[in-house]
Amino acid sequence: MKRIAVLTSGGDAPGMNAAIRAVVRTGLHKGWEVFGVRHGYAGLIAGNFQSLGARDVGGIIQQGGTVLGSARSPEFKTEEGRLKAVRALHQQGVEGLVVIGGNGSQTGALALSQMGFPVVGVASTIDNDLYGSEIAIGADTALNIALEAIDRLKVTASSHQRAFLVEVMGRDCGYLALMAGIAGGAEAIVIPEVETDPEALTSELRAAYERGKAHALVVVAEGARYNAEELARYVRKHRDRLGFELRVTTLGHVQRGGAPGAFDRILGTRFGAAAVDALAAGKSGVLIGLLKGEIQTTPLTEVVANKKTLDPRLIELAHVLAR
Ligand code: ADP
Repeated sequence: MKRIAVLTSGGDAPGMNAAIRAVVRTGLHKGWEVFGVRHGYAGLIAGNFQSLGARDVGGIIQQGGTVLGSARSPEFKTEEGRLKAVRALHQQGVEGLVVIGGNGSQTGALALSQMGFPVVGVASTIDNDLYGSEIAIGADTALNIALEAIDRLKVTASSHQRAFLVEVMGRDCGYLALMAGIAGGAEAIVIPEVETDPEALTSELRAAYERGKAHALVVVAEGARYNAEELARYVRKHRDRLGFELRVTTLGHVQRGGAPGAFDRILGTRFGAAAVDALAAGKSGVLIGLLKGEIQTTPLTEVVANKKTLDPRLIELAHVLAR
């Protein structure tokens, strides 16, 4: 292999830049030429390649987001779009592609690989919902940002005997909410994986009030059946039963924008280097992820076919500790 390319796709995640930098410098170390593709699969279809040298990826490891830009490309979901992408790769003389992204991006990577093009995926999503990696790039930083907000909300909640519903990201996965809830000492956690109806939540909050809690903090995953606003609407109707005054905070994209912490910089670096090593070893159609503390590859067919689940022991623990 002489020429490879790297792209970031789907939702941006802190640590993507560390992975880009590692792909570029590991590739250069092997004597290869490395191209960055601007704006994910959309840029791939458009043939938007940029040759990257060691200096081009200098000073980016500490930056959140992705210097290559990301995009969502409906065209890449069509066979015609993917054919254009493969043509662009061949025209550029590229022989291998690294795709840094989450679930959707790795589904796209599998589709490309099934057309015969060598692709290696890198697990990167703040939602941490990707099968084949216990932790993906960006999840740890996003969690720490959510936690900082939760800690602050707890301070003000205690002063006013308030209950706060804090909505965190995560799409259909409750990972961020569960972990932020455990680390932030939440009184309740509402996640898609566990059915929680507004009535049960109201009773839980009332019970916390009666136990003499100065505040109540509820972490709600955006993908839960009832989001924070919907829960609040119900709970407010039963204000007299609640005890606490209720407030809602939606953290939203604030969770994405942070500078990557040490964990995500190191994870991104290791994943990026491992992706290039995999291509060098003739491996493709796989995802680079962390399993049992080791960098491992998992076939993209398996990644796409399986759904990552939350550890039920952690869900139980969160419940026990909310006393
Ligand atoms: P993420 O990778 O963060 O989950 P998305 O779900 O938005 O982000 O997916 C990113 C891109 O991956 C999409 O815009 C699309 O171009 C591509 N993609 C997603 N699903 C598929 C699919 N089934 N087939 C081909 N490409 C896909």
